[in-house]
Amino acid sequence: MKIVVLVKQVPDTYEDRKIDLSSGLLDRDASDIVPDEINERALESALRYKDGQKATEIVVLTMGPDSATKTLRKMLSMGADSAIHIVDDALAASDMVQTARVLAAAIQRGGFDLVLAGNESTDGRGGVVPAMVAEILGLPLLPSLDALELEAGSVSGTCSIDGGSLSVRAPLPAVVSVTERSAEARFPNFKGIMMAKRKPVETMDRASLDLGTAAVAASVVGSATKRPARAAGTKIIDDGTAAQELAGFLASNRLI
Ligand SMILES: Cc1cc2nc3c(=O)[nH]c(=O)nc-3n(C[C@H](O)[C@H](O)[C@H](O)COP(=O)(O)OP(=O)(O)OC[C@H]3O[C@@H](n4cnc5c(N)ncnc54)[C@H](O)[C@@H]3O)c2cc1C
Repeated sequence: MKIVVLVKQVPDTYEDRKIDLSSGLLDRDASDIVPDEINERALESALRYKDGQKATEIVVLTMGPDSATKTLRKMLSMGADSAIHIVDDALAASDMVQTARVLAAAIQRGGFDLVLAGNESTDGRGGVVPAMVAEILGLPLLPSLDALELEAGSVSGTCSIDGGSLSVRAPLPAVVSVTERSAEARFPNFKGIMMAKRKPVETMDRASLDLGTAAVAASVVGSATKRPARAAGTKIIDDGTAAQELAGFLASNRLI
């Protein structure tokens, strides 16, 4: 079984995240850049299968700037076998369609049985890349699984819906995205960190992928505007009139 896990490097959600107002892109110097936690959970699901089926091969794949190597090394230290890094200035500011095309081309090139991804990144939050990859590869998609079970020829799992949950299944090969309710990721141990240094990381650029001849018109950021600073809130001190003041405040803001 060969599992490809799609991983994205994102600004740490515990820090102040900023965009570069001149380009609309992430300001990488404003916060720590880390693997998206949802992708660590996706990798964990793959690793749990490999714990029982040692012949399983796990490849982590990212498209991102040079610094994304750090994320790949972390995933290798958790237990992935190898990594692919698509890095090319020509791909900077790729929209979701371009990203999906590039990822799908790289996945197709190496062969696979299962593609695992997060259901939504914590920065871009498009939530559509896994579905687009499945569409391009012509594969079934099991989206937003809270838990998944992998067998030799199929994958199944559960996803939450309003008022209940669904139990779903697809034959392999397939694409699966997982939610933050899925497997809690393991910490890399010392042995894993040392071994990660020797594991292969293949670097690819746009030219090394078969992206076909169809030109894709990428969407571009027209302008970016900083969110206005928060104004000081209204303080209500209870001198016997607090209830009326509160009701007045809610009514004036059309909250009641
Ligand atoms: C040089 C360079 C600079 C970039 N700069 C930015 C930037 O500033 N801001 C930004 O948001 N994106 C950047 N990207 C990445 C790319 O543009 C986004 O990944 C893409 O638009 C996906 O959007 P999303 O996060 O909303 O996807 P979603 O659909 O929300 O992602 C869902 C899942 O898809 C997978 N996935 C998504 N993107 C990638 C990826 N790049 N590689 C591997 N798996 C992925 C992950 O499993 C993720 O959990 C850059 C790429 C390159 C090459």
